[in-house]
Amino acid sequence: MKKKTIVITLVLAITVAFAGLALCQQVGQGKSMEVVAEKPIEPEEKVVKTEEEWKKQLSPEQYRILREAGTERAFGKVYKEFKEQGEGTYICAGCNAELFTSNEKFDSGCGWPSFYDPSKNENVRTVPDLSNGMIRIEVLCAKCGGHLGHLFEGEGYKTPTDQRYCINGTALKFVPKEAEASPEPIKSVGIIPAEKKEGE
Ligand code: FE
Repeated sequence: MKKKTIVITLVLAITVAFAGLALCQQVGQGKSMEVVAEKPIEPEEKVVKTEEEWKKQLSPEQYRILREAGTERAFGKVYKEFKEQGEGTYICAGCNAELFTSNEKFDSGCGWPSFYDPSKNENVRTVPDLSNGMIRIEVLCAKCGGHLGHLFEGEGYKTPTDQRYCINGTALKFVPKEAEASPEPIKSVGIIPAEKKEGE
């Protein structure tokens, strides 16, 4: 083999190896939990959208979890972020309904965000789930029907309910406490008169 061919082959092999390593790191890190700077207004009614509208609004990972009952990778980036987050509220990534707060958060060590109770019961719904050959309880957002995760009970956690709402962090948005001052509800939408300029 000529020297030039050997050098080219080596360069190509090294490039492929680095590209593979970078891809592995990306897959391993997973996606982040969305953090919002201002608490959005909650929906009062049920949120109904077409699959096309959901696809447009959500990231592919949020869509896979919320609308296709997917599960994020355990011990992923979102879980590490969750563990480090301080006080605040967790709202539905699909419709902004309040679901949990940091008050109900606990470290179950299971690899997914865990809460022992919802903060707003009316926004969280549970239904039997017999998929994948298991008998489980599925947790859904009551406002938009988005899949959040599963509920496990009686596992012996020293929490007030001994329940574990095992929730996909990707299905949540985090509102840090500092950002929780809700915006004034919009009472009416009218035409705001333009300010008069000097000399008018
Ligand atoms: Fe929702």
